[in-house]
Amino acid sequence: MVDLGRKIKEAVGAVDNLSKFEKFSKLKASYVEYDKFANSNLRQSYFCYNCIYWINADGGKCMLVKNEGPDVMGNESNVIAPHGCCAGYEANYDKIDDTRKGKQHKKVTTADVTDKNKD
Ligand code: SF4
Repeated sequence: MVDLGRKIKEAVGAVDNLSKFEKFSKLKASYVEYDKFANSNLRQSYFCYNCIYWINADGGKCMLVKNEGPDVMGNESNVIAPHGCCAGYEANYDKIDDTRKGKQHKKVTTADVTDKNKD
C-alpha cells in the first residue's frame, strides 16, 4: 500500500505556494470521523485536533484534505472534525498530551522531532 502520508508531504514540498496545492479528497486521504469520539479527550491519540495540518478556524479545516465530500464511511459533515483522522496524520507534539509516566521521558515538542534541529 502506498504511504499516503509520505506522498502528501512530498506533494506539499513540491510546491512553493500552498494556495496552488490541490487538496486531497476525504476518500483519497482515508479520512474518517467517529461521532463516539466527539466528546473524548482529544489531546490523546491520533485525532485531527493533534495534527499539525488541522486549522481550528471556520468550523474546522485541514491544510491537506478538503472539508467537503464524504468520508470513508459515506458521511458528509463538510468540516474536518477535531475527532477525525486520516492517513496524513502528523502529530503536533506541542499540543498532544504525553501520557508516558516517569522521569526518563522528557516532554517532546515538534521542534525536537523536526529535521531543522537535527545536526
Ligand atoms: S489527520 Fe488528516 S484530515 Fe486530520 S488534520 Fe491531519 S492531515 Fe488533516
